[in-house]
Amino acid sequence: MTQAPPPINATKHMKKLMADHFLGLDRAAREGSPKVAWCTSVGPAELLLSMGFAVYYPENHGALLGATRMATEVIPVANAAGYSPDICSYLTADIGAFLKGVTPLTAAYGIKSIPKADVLVFNTNQCRDVADWFGFYARHWNVPLAGVCSHRGLGEVKRHHIDDVVSQFKDMIPVLEKVSGVKFDIDRLRETVRLSKECTVRWRKVLEYAALSPTPMTFFDHTIHMAPAVVLRGTQEALDYYDLLLAELEQRAAEGVAAAPGERYRLYWDGMPVWGRLRMLSETLGGLGAAVVASTYCNSWIFEAFDAADPFESMARAYLELFIVRDDDYKERYIRQWARRFGVQGIIFHDAKTCPNNSNNRYAMPERLAQDLGVPTLTINGDLNDLRCFSDEQARTNMEAFAEQLGEQAA
Ligand code: SF4
Repeated sequence: MTQAPPPINATKHMKKLMADHFLGLDRAAREGSPKVAWCTSVGPAELLLSMGFAVYYPENHGALLGATRMATEVIPVANAAGYSPDICSYLTADIGAFLKGVTPLTAAYGIKSIPKADVLVFNTNQCRDVADWFGFYARHWNVPLAGVCSHRGLGEVKRHHIDDVVSQFKDMIPVLEKVSGVKFDIDRLRETVRLSKECTVRWRKVLEYAALSPTPMTFFDHTIHMAPAVVLRGTQEALDYYDLLLAELEQRAAEGVAAAPGERYRLYWDGMPVWGRLRMLSETLGGLGAAVVASTYCNSWIFEAFDAADPFESMARAYLELFIVRDDDYKERYIRQWARRFGVQGIIFHDAKTCPNNSNNRYAMPERLAQDLGVPTLTINGDLNDLRCFSDEQARTNMEAFAEQLGEQAA
């Protein structure tokens, strides 16, 4: 029987933080103050926070629908309303749940429904789906929809890309002022950007602990502990949380605690998590002696460029320099660098059926990386939320064969 990894104590505190976050949003939506802004996960959250909005991230709700395995039962409701089963399953799960009148927030926190938006702000730096997703709610509630139509597939991030995004941020301000009743204040924006940068510094340190062997935390732990970086960046609570987690990691590292006991192989994960199968994947890989030590996905909340001295330009840069916004040459260099730094012996690509934007296996990148790095790669077919696209049996068989390949390589 596989030894269970030792629990991370900070998790208890994180659960309380997340409860406070959702209960605060619920209260704001019911009382009408502060105003609620919906924001995409790598959207201009700092601008919204600086203007006093309670900020809600629907992708986080999408992931909860996946993790609680409610997604598969509600996606068909959105399909019946005209949203294709082939598009983002965060979108279809979220809209399906809304149309059906259910949310995982009820079982978790006693909250009846998702917080109604006063304004919706998207950034298409990650995909076009977010604009359509937010558009549904803007029409439904008849509330303003604002957003950044971003450049995509960038090699170098150039001056004109940054200038364009800065001017789109600034164009939103009158809409946000009208909805919130709060006048834009550059010093509040500077302070929020400073807090977000501090959050990035700490989150990066958390991820870097996995360069140790054995790793005190795996990708599967990261998918849970990234929540404050996603929904609380720009606040002091996120910094306090990561200080707590970093202290625990330091201790785990000093004691040689292995998050995947018996770690023999170190792997990189590219692509979305399979939210409804995190435990199965973690236990199967752990049982094969494999620790997933680094991932593109969890690195997506590292925003190196934030700079309080130049908040608009640095926000534009941070949200354009992200992995998902870049071209394949950049992405390949990025994965190569992290794979080398974390000493990985193999790479898993998750081909998520409904998210081509986060599936980097489709244009021969695995083959090129395997050749460059001299390590094998495995593609797992699945999805972030729609478990009809994922077969436990097939994934398990593929992972077992991959572990054999890793063993042969190591011999
Ligand atoms: S990047 Fe993928 S998972 Fe995220 S919102 Fe877009 S389509 Fe959905």
